Amino acid sequence: MIDYRIEVGSAHAHRFLVTLRIAQPQARQRLSLPVWIPGSYLVREFARHLSPLSAQQGQRVLEVQQLDKSSWVVDCPGKGALTVTCEVYAFDTSVRAAFLDSRRGFFNGTSVFLKAEGFEDQPQRVKITGLPKGWGVATGLLPLKVNAQGLGDYEAPDYDSLVDHPVELGTFWRGTFTAKGVVHEFVVSGASADLDGPRLLADTQRICEAQIAFWHGRRKPAFERYVFLLNAVDDGYGGLEHRNSTALICARRDLPRVGRPVNTDAYQTLLGLISHEYFHTWNVKRLKPAEFAQYDYTQENYTQLLWFFEGFTSYYDDLFLVRCGLIDTARYLKLVSRTVSGVLALPGRKVQSVAQSSFDTWVKYYRSDENTPNATISYYTKGSLVALALDLTLRREGKSSLDAVMRELWAMSAGGPIDEAQIRAALLKLGGRSFDAELDAWVHGTDDLPLQGALVAFGIDWVTDAATLAQRLGLRVSESALTGVKVSHVLRGGAAERAGLSVGDEVLALQGWRLRRLDDALRLLVPNTPATLLVARDQRVLSLSLVLSAAAAPAGAGVTLKQSAKPAAPAAALQKAWLSA
Ligand SMILES: [Zn+2]
Repeated sequence: MIDYRIEVGSAHAHRFLVTLRIAQPQARQRLSLPVWIPGSYLVREFARHLSPLSAQQGQRVLEVQQLDKSSWVVDCPGKGALTVTCEVYAFDTSVRAAFLDSRRGFFNGTSVFLKAEGFEDQPQRVKITGLPKGWGVATGLLPLKVNAQGLGDYEAPDYDSLVDHPVELGTFWRGTFTAKGVVHEFVVSGASADLDGPRLLADTQRICEAQIAFWHGRRKPAFERYVFLLNAVDDGYGGLEHRNSTALICARRDLPRVGRPVNTDAYQTLLGLISHEYFHTWNVKRLKPAEFAQYDYTQENYTQLLWFFEGFTSYYDDLFLVRCGLIDTARYLKLVSRTVSGVLALPGRKVQSVAQSSFDTWVKYYRSDENTPNATISYYTKGSLVALALDLTLRREGKSSLDAVMRELWAMSAGGPIDEAQIRAALLKLGGRSFDAELDAWVHGTDDLPLQGALVAFGIDWVTDAATLAQRLGLRVSESALTGVKVSHVLRGGAAERAGLSVGDEVLALQGWRLRRLDDALRLLVPNTPATLLVARDQRVLSLSLVLSAAAAPAGAGVTLKQSAKPAAPAAALQKAWLSA
């Protein structure tokens, strides 16, 4: 039996005290801490926040030998239980690690629980204790013996499960609802006293019921209960999925409040996040890449399939909002427009496929820099458009839909690991033809997706927006009275790149006139005519020659999707079936 005990060492100094007890340790007992947390594909080196370990067997103090950045070994001469203690510094405000201060605590097991190697498959118990007065516990972990506030003993069947249950500590708002027979708990930390909890519960319930019905029809899902852990902060946004819970962050002002107008766009964005993380309960936590069948916590776990697991989840998150009536079609089309425009604004879409983007996420997506738009494409955004293109194609051909393909994959794999061949097989089976050409081009290629024609067939017009000057020049800037105009990105193949502009340049003047804002250049530039641009770079002033192209719709211009004024009857029927499925 593996037992952990976690308590507050010092709240204001952000230190948890963690004890691991192994009843019957191996003679050479290895211990390790994960370097990453599933769902967030970056090596984060959680061990950097551990204090030196100390170990004891009975009264005997044992030496702990460190093997590498995240693993240790203890020679255990006796037969008794091995006890290992350490402090964990916890001051990460994201959903990916651990946090503790005098107001609140939060942790993922990957940050605090050393793995007792050789005992991964055995039950792992956790005692949560020693919290400041009045604090409670919220987690999806199975409670064994806990008090009304949730302090006490929890159990997980194995280490993988243990570290897949984040824990919220402190004083928080708590509400519950039932969806298709499953109890859902919603915990909000940090909200103002006028939080409209009932509205949050009712809206979330609609999403949960729709998603359970999507995957299981009238049957119950495989989990007994589900917990939303939402932390409301001054400013923030994000979420991380787990098997029967999710940890979320939102801005306090975006939550609905009793008797006050709701910031509709922001609240709908939060509902989209809730929908996204909940959809992951199936897509990536159970239906998962074959490479994730057994996580390796010691290093990067590569897969080419995040376009499916993140991209398709991103497709379904807002689609469920419109299908549930939480947003209207106009708002839905606005959200899709934003995604399409975002992808078109990235020259990197011509450089990297979404399969490559998935594989390289460990060093690219999660480590973005000024070159990211030129070199990469997001498997979230383009992945969601691959889902859209597939769904529209399947529906238009009249044999199936992406909904049915998702359920087929679930049935094929019994809610387990899949590979790309199975995705192709499910498309072939339900679509009545091979979709290999589409997947080769859309997932492994870099051409733009044929969305415009597909959307027209669903009664949706595609209108190219007027390009901004920055888009026409192929650059992005930050502007303020204090810093002036500073170049943050130079986009591949654009006028700015041809002129020799570089990231970090301060744009000073054009044609002898001082520029306070980039748009001041609009009245000075004549299309296809060289203009003299002065920039400051490393204390020197440089003179560059800038030519604005006369092209009407330059690369990077955004798109607005709108309902057609008078769609043909077949298009209207297709749209209705798609958005109200
Ligand atoms: Zn996700």
